[in-house]
Amino acid sequence: MRKIYILFSAVLCLMAVGCRQQGGGKATDMKYRPLGDTGLEVSEISIGCGGFEKLDSAASLELMTMALDSGMNYIDIYDCTPKTRSNIGYALQGRRKEMIIQGHIGTIYKDGQHVRTRDVEEAKAGFEDLLERLHTDYIEVGMIHITDSHEEWEAIQDSPFLDYVFQLKKEGKIKHIGLSSHNAEVALRAAKSGWVEVIMFSLNPAFDRLRGGAVPWEKGAMDNLQAGIDPVRVEFYDYCATHKIGVTVMKTFGGGGRLLDAKTSQLGVAYTPEQCIAYCLANPCISTCILGIDNLDELKADLHWMHATEAEKDYTQVGQHEKPSLGGDCTYCNHCSPCTAGIPIAKVNELLDKAERDGLTPELQEQYNALGKHGSDCTHCGACLSRCPFGVDIPSRMDAARTMFGH
Ligand code: SF4
Ligand code: SF4
Repeated sequence: MRKIYILFSAVLCLMAVGCRQQGGGKATDMKYRPLGDTGLEVSEISIGCGGFEKLDSAASLELMTMALDSGMNYIDIYDCTPKTRSNIGYALQGRRKEMIIQGHIGTIYKDGQHVRTRDVEEAKAGFEDLLERLHTDYIEVGMIHITDSHEEWEAIQDSPFLDYVFQLKKEGKIKHIGLSSHNAEVALRAAKSGWVEVIMFSLNPAFDRLRGGAVPWEKGAMDNLQAGIDPVRVEFYDYCATHKIGVTVMKTFGGGGRLLDAKTSQLGVAYTPEQCIAYCLANPCISTCILGIDNLDELKADLHWMHATEAEKDYTQVGQHEKPSLGGDCTYCNHCSPCTAGIPIAKVNELLDKAERDGLTPELQEQYNALGKHGSDCTHCGACLSRCPFGVDIPSRMDAARTMFGH
């Protein structure tokens, strides 16, 4: 899905003049922003852990090395598979201090699935596992994993789980407390809590535009950006900028890279990576855009951001979409997990979307067959529905997958 833009730009960037010295004395053109009031300076673009799930240890090392050498100094690590955590730890060995780690608390990998938890013992086991596999005794940002509803937010107040998070900070195992959310109302409550220092929030042109009115199609000043966005989102952005709450962006490219392809874009038009990043960074509260990067080619394409011209960054040229759609589009984020029947929902949706879009190929059928559980295993229990931030009718999609793939 991802397009390759200017393949050798990352190589050129390493030779550029007038660069900033970063990490181990490398010269890059990466720009940095304050992470709220934490005292940390983070690269404008940073890396998520999802892409590492597809890589072995050698490829993980290669990707991490290029990211670090290019000046990226921030990584988000949620409950990716234990093997992936180990590979990231391997890739960071010897360079741990060059990378600021945003690691999630309250999410574990259990029985082959991602599980959101507020059970202290489970959260503790998950966090200790993270430190061990990363070969470190602390992370910079301890991110309370996805808190999307008011009920979830209220449930963690004065809870043993929150006590555990505070204890981690007191012990220095996390330097700052963060929280991730797709819900602007909850994110705003977190920002105003007085103890959340960093918030990971889903932001891109589609989410701003389709979650509460039309965005005027000008870039730059917040006055313009704010004019058509859901007022709660605006209040959240303003509050974070004014009170120096760090905001890190997830789903910069629409989730699963949807915005980069007109066939999948929620806005019906394709954006480039530069336009998506420029849109997010035009918002003064944003510290870094966390990018899903699957391989070296995608990393090189994303690093073109450092040398993109103003014309390349100009998202105003994309223009108006005609048929906006947001509800029902899976972003393959895995937040609906675990499935009571063990179905890898995100993967099933991804294969189904591809088959619907491009036609069912033997390769897609083979990948689907190789999954441990399939659409036909869905019992319509509905347990996953409340965990999906994007309103996907998951049981219906599982039915559609069974029809498409035959089981
Ligand atoms: S509705 Fe289907 S996909 Fe969702 S948790 Fe239940 S069995 Fe799994
Ligand atoms: S169904 Fe929803 S929660 Fe699950 S992967 Fe898709 S977008 Fe994410």
